[in-house]
Amino acid sequence: MRIEIVGARSIPDSREKPTIETTLRSGELEAKASVPSGKSTGAHEAKELRDEDGSVSTALSNVTGEIAEAISTREFASTKELDAFLIELDGTPDKSRLGANAILSVSISATRLFALQAGVPLWRYLADTYGTTPSAPRLFVNVMNGGAHAGFRLPIQEHIFMVGEATLTESFATAERGFAELGEMLKSETDDLQMGDEGGYSPAFADFDKPFELLTKLVEKHQNTAIAIDSAANELRNDHGGYTLIGKDYTSEELRKLYVDLVGKFPFHAVEDPFAETDSKSFTELTADIGKQVLVIGDDITVTNPKRIENAIEEKSMNAVLIKPNQIGSVSEAAEAVKKTHSAGWATVCSHRSGETDDTFIADFAYGMGAHGIKAGGLGQKVRREKYERLCSIEKEVTI
Ligand code: PEP
Ligand code: MG
Repeated sequence: MRIEIVGARSIPDSREKPTIETTLRSGELEAKASVPSGKSTGAHEAKELRDEDGSVSTALSNVTGEIAEAISTREFASTKELDAFLIELDGTPDKSRLGANAILSVSISATRLFALQAGVPLWRYLADTYGTTPSAPRLFVNVMNGGAHAGFRLPIQEHIFMVGEATLTESFATAERGFAELGEMLKSETDDLQMGDEGGYSPAFADFDKPFELLTKLVEKHQNTAIAIDSAANELRNDHGGYTLIGKDYTSEELRKLYVDLVGKFPFHAVEDPFAETDSKSFTELTADIGKQVLVIGDDITVTNPKRIENAIEEKSMNAVLIKPNQIGSVSEAAEAVKKTHSAGWATVCSHRSGETDDTFIADFAYGMGAHGIKAGGLGQKVRREKYERLCSIEKEVTI
């Protein structure tokens, strides 16, 4: 297939930060994609290209200039071929020359073109191309936002209501009910209720257990639900090699004990980034402690990078991996990261970023890859709800 770049423009993400939206064409077919942006990032993520003023002007020129010219004279048979070409064109290990944001916007929009050309839904094209078995992911709904996404009003970045009903439509309905009920509970607990970056509630509790007590009430009310968290512990690191939560310092050992107690006390399903990216030993120890009972998920430590995932598998640092396509910068490498994780018998959770757009690619990706779960934020923002809504419509495409 010949691919032509129609244009690329800067659009605001959910935090009003500029990001890229790219439109491609092949004959009569047209497709576009926009890319998200993280705030609590891993040091080894592929590089999002931003100019000093925070704009994405250089990344946009790379799409409409060098990339457009390079792909214009060739034919590509699949996203795999296109991604391999773009990776070589960039020539750096972290996509810092052309920009992971520039490359990913082309990679995703081209994937849509290939799916259109094949006459199949996007999730089906992804599964056929990468040899995965599609299935419905559990919803990891970030109902209470803290950490860097909410001015550290709560120490933990994400308090997640995990829902795994028989169908996605039922899961979404349960998530909706739970989200509304939690809102009512929080209003009676505090006058100081805000919303965080990911469309979840953001109360300010000094009592560490409080959010888990409230989530437990929801879990007791709704079947097939559980609690998950993302500590995003890079953000909790203090100057003396430990961690600080609500003004209290913890060594890695003390923090590990806190997680073991937490998982023993409340109905937990998963713990993401319990330690910083440089503290892999603590990841391994915690996984040995609680890995039979819950998922221990790596995010900033693995950054959707197949090589880093391989390393984590060798070190038994976790038993599940978060997958964010923009951490690695192409659809094919994100798919490779999923397959590497699954080949170890580990689970994947596909994830949005805290700065999001209305692009719902992650929903098709999670479904097509057969991921264990999808993390797409709270229900208080349209850009988050759209991902869950897309999943409900995929379910209808499957039954037609
Ligand atoms: C995360 O840490 O899992 C997350 C979604 O946040 P961000 O996009 O800020 O990395
Ligand atoms: Mg995370």
